[in-house]
Amino acid sequence: MSERAAPFHCPYCGDEDLRPNETGHGAWECAACNRAFQLKFLGLLSRGVATGKPSEEKGI
Ligand SMILES: [Zn+2]
Repeated sequence: MSERAAPFHCPYCGDEDLRPNETGHGAWECAACNRAFQLKFLGLLSRGVATGKPSEEKGI
């Protein structure tokens, strides 16, 4: 996993018009709602890799 994770949708408005933010690592900005946010890897879950797909949708 050497690639940096890239979001496909803005977590705030759901738009796909995302571009990297100048502040650097994992920082993205949304052109649709003008928000900047940062992705951060928190660590692995202790329960391990799930085999089923997640059941909960991301609420906005
Ligand atoms: Zn947005």
